[in-house]
Amino acid sequence: MQKKLDIAYLGHDILRSKTTRVDHIEDKAFQEFIDHMIYTVKAVNGLGIAAPQVYKKDRVFIMASKPSERYPNAPTMAPITIINPEIIKHSKTTTKDWEGCLSIPGIRGLVPRYDSITVKYTNRFGALINSSFTGFIARIFQHEIDHLNGLVFLDRLETNKDIITESEYQKIVTTSL
Ligand code: ZN
Repeated sequence: MQKKLDIAYLGHDILRSKTTRVDHIEDKAFQEFIDHMIYTVKAVNGLGIAAPQVYKKDRVFIMASKPSERYPNAPTMAPITIINPEIIKHSKTTTKDWEGCLSIPGIRGLVPRYDSITVKYTNRFGALINSSFTGFIARIFQHEIDHLNGLVFLDRLETNKDIITESEYQKIVTTSL
């Protein structure tokens, strides 16, 4: 049975905590936790969700991009479960683009991220995966792996002037469509 997990909001210690490697991916409780995370990220129209955002200290996150009211320009992808991730290589170039976070409602920031990354991680079936991501998906990966290291997107901003409200952001995306 899938259930919607409670979201931790900025100010709660869990979002600033260190996480630990997942060693028993096959455990029933962990597999159920993954199902709950996937269900939750869809239910709240997120593009990704990391374990600390639902009060767990496991090194796991879900990427689940699809267009929504929160992110009208997001590409569509099937949810991917990313366990014990590492960024092995990244482009020299970065691009600034708008990000939000389920744990920081009402706020958007213009966040610089690497344009492309080469990563390794373990999937929910225990297979070691080497992969490369570019653009928006690379951005989601970098946002979510930050959560596993106690960071949020606000920590990556070049200036506080790159913070805007959700309502002003909605005007920007509407006019750029
Ligand atoms: Zn986030």
